[in-house]
Amino acid sequence: MGGGGRGLLFIVSSPSGGGKTTLIRLTMERLRARGGRCHFSVSHTTRPPRPGEVDGRDYHFVSREEFERMVHAGEFLEWAEYAGNLYGTSRREVEGRLEAGIDVFLDIEVQGAAQVKGKIPEAVKVFVYPPSYEELKRRLEQRRQDPPEAIRRRLLWAERELQVVGDFDYAIINDRLDEAVDVLFGICLAEHHRVAVITSTLDAIRETFRVSLEEDLKR
Ligand code: 5GP
Repeated sequence: MGGGGRGLLFIVSSPSGGGKTTLIRLTMERLRARGGRCHFSVSHTTRPPRPGEVDGRDYHFVSREEFERMVHAGEFLEWAEYAGNLYGTSRREVEGRLEAGIDVFLDIEVQGAAQVKGKIPEAVKVFVYPPSYEELKRRLEQRRQDPPEAIRRRLLWAERELQVVGDFDYAIINDRLDEAVDVLFGICLAEHHRVAVITSTLDAIRETFRVSLEEDLKR
């Protein structure tokens, strides 16, 4: 995909429990299957690991002291407080990869999404909307990873998050996972075909015309 230029940055936001992590993983699998190069940015967080979560794969789990040290050292592209914990995207996860032509996916909440868009305006912002309040509640409860109080806080916060969808480029209603993957995959493909993104490939094709036409006209 693409034409050897910079990678694209996809910011995928949704309220907690919106299902975006699975959605991103499946979309990345499809992109890779057709030759795309992409990376899931692993965030730093002060939240304790949930059962089954692996340090370095799901998150870099760090202490508040270490997180604050990184903030002061300017190591984060963005960071935010969410439900009493700190979350941040380190520059190291993102910058070199974009430079190397690799797409990067950020799974972050809306405050962080706004910060990234301020720094990298060409980033593509996708909001994953839950189909309904009841469905989001059901998903959070089914996950059985958070106590009832934490679920209540997340639902309250979700209502506020849903209000900022107007700042995003795309919205995906995550009703059926396979359809949501189709849509996110489609967005990624379309973004790779923006004229501004594939200019160098288009220029190279035009160059073959220039060279070959000259040859043909000489005959
Ligand atoms: P959870 O605790 O459920 O894993 O994540 C809570 C929220 O924090 C989710 O909306 C998730 O997308 C967001 N989040 C995860 N990593 C980051 C990050 O690096 N920065 C920001 N701003 N939010 C993040």
